[in-house]
Amino acid sequence: MADIDKRIIKLPDLQLIDKYNRCLNYLRISITDRCNLRCVYCVTNDTNPNLPHKEILRYEEILRLVRIGVRLGISKVRVTGGEPLVRKGVYDFLGQLTQIDGLSDVSLTTNGVLLKDNIKKIRSAGIKRINVSMDTLNRQKYKDITGHDMFDQVWEGIESAQKMGFDPIKINVVALNGINDDELTDIAGLSFSYPFHIRFIEYMPIGTSHITIGNQLLAPEIQERIKVLGELSPVEKGINDGPAKRYKFKGAKGEIGFIHAVSKHFCNECNRLRLTANGKLRACLLSDHQEDIKGPLRRGCLDSELADVFLRAVSHKPYGHNLVRNHPVMVAGRMSAIGG
Ligand code: SAM
Repeated sequence: MADIDKRIIKLPDLQLIDKYNRCLNYLRISITDRCNLRCVYCVTNDTNPNLPHKEILRYEEILRLVRIGVRLGISKVRVTGGEPLVRKGVYDFLGQLTQIDGLSDVSLTTNGVLLKDNIKKIRSAGIKRINVSMDTLNRQKYKDITGHDMFDQVWEGIESAQKMGFDPIKINVVALNGINDDELTDIAGLSFSYPFHIRFIEYMPIGTSHITIGNQLLAPEIQERIKVLGELSPVEKGINDGPAKRYKFKGAKGEIGFIHAVSKHFCNECNRLRLTANGKLRACLLSDHQEDIKGPLRRGCLDSELADVFLRAVSHKPYGHNLVRNHPVMVAGRMSAIGG
């Protein structure tokens, strides 16, 4: 098979375009399935241990796949997990990732537990944007949700990221009935005092977590509840924006966003491809179809053959998922390994 360089030069239209004409230019990479928190909505009831180390893609393997992805049109990458900051060597890896020509945006999603002590290393690695998950402003509740008494540490991490100039800092909040719904206005109210982008995420039934569909709180309801803080005006989408619908309260420093994966899915505009911790390419978070790329990679395949795996994964991207509120279809696997 011809080398990919030649193929791309010969075929400039060799892009990750699926059969519905969506152009996939955004790769989300789970670098580990391990996490230092046990969030009730994320941790599964199964007793599967973490993936053995040899099953996890090595950094150099990930970097090679990203370079191939870039030649196929990937321009934006997010590093996630599991908790990416628990993986040894992550800061060097981030530094190498941000050096890859052709990537215009490299960002990180973290639970923030290790943020404060490592914020300089993250910045030095060239990361400018981070998302931090924090579902409550209450220390005890944080412990109840995550299993760890880490609220203060995470908050200090967010503050240190702000001091270091990360912009924007997005705070991810999974909104859940009976768990943090009493705090929605307080959390949204942070956008008045801080330039943070608060993003309310609808719970998705992935794996067998401790949360039931009764806990699910959808974006329209969240929006209705936080309206007591003022009128929300839409914010125009930026070029590198994800699926969040963005809004701002009058006079606020920050923004409010809604990730309405369930109530109003954004599948028609989905530009995402995922690389799982154990080396599968997954074109839809909520579909169980995935293509193994670790096998061919470790068998010594050429870049062109690995590019074919990308193209195959993309060809299987479904038009949309069918998660609906009252008849949810449980997605197999674990969010930590797939990459949230
Ligand atoms: N450890 C990092 C963190 O906490 O941000 C990255 C991985 S985590 C799986 C990524 C995001 O997925 C987090 O914001 C988390 O709240 C969200 N998440 C996890 N399980 C979810 C679920 N079942 N539905 C919706 N969001 C979920």
